[in-house]
Amino acid sequence: MRRKLAAGNWKMNGLCADLAEIEALAAAPAPTQTDRLICPPATLIARAARIAPGAIAIGGQECHAMNAGAHTGDISAPMLADAGASYVILGHSERRQDHMESDADVRAKARAAHEAGLTTLICVGETLAERDAANTLDIIGGQLSGSVPDHGTGENLVIAYEPIWAIGTGRTATPEQIGEVHDFIRARLERRFGAGVGRSVRLLYGGSVKPANADTIFAVSNVDGALVGGASLRAADFGAIIAAL
Ligand code: 13P
Repeated sequence: MRRKLAAGNWKMNGLCADLAEIEALAAAPAPTQTDRLICPPATLIARAARIAPGAIAIGGQECHAMNAGAHTGDISAPMLADAGASYVILGHSERRQDHMESDADVRAKARAAHEAGLTTLICVGETLAERDAANTLDIIGGQLSGSVPDHGTGENLVIAYEPIWAIGTGRTATPEQIGEVHDFIRARLERRFGAGVGRSVRLLYGGSVKPANADTIFAVSNVDGALVGGASLRAADFGAIIAAL
């Protein structure tokens, strides 16, 4: 039985004052079946991790593939773990686009993250042009085989399906579209890693998840939670999404 996961990706948002939102989340009764995760900007990770250890997990939004060295401005997986993070988002479409991250880059980062004891949240998703050309499953399949490492993968892996055309646009994929891709990802993971590991990986949907559409999305098969951007910034909205899981 997979636990649910409600993950908030704050992206490049959040100052010290916004830590109050994590405090407010922690003050709400803890759900029994659902893990709660906030991935704030790196500047807030250490402070965020001290707010409610054990109740609200904290994650990074990216890490380097090397553990240390001459890489100005970068953050390594052991550094994230040392700051109190237990998860890291990798291969978000904004990183793939803005920083030219390839599947091979994401895979190398994921290996480093697993070695540092972090759970990786690896993102996959198609553009609107790829969907319109009926290439969605080919694109997702390629991203999965390229980005997910072979070794050391198990319950420390979460996959987030985030159609690029649904991110920050107010457009969500339909339940049928989400179900088709999530069932496909599940089947691919089971084929590659065997039923035990394949069934233990949690699959999140991301892309304009809001309190108003959370119920519908969470009713879809193989949806184990959500990766939420804008609506994770305020505890009231994120709390409502968590309650729907
Ligand atoms: P929005 O929820 O703002 O559409 O962002 C989704 C996302 O990219 C989460 O990683």
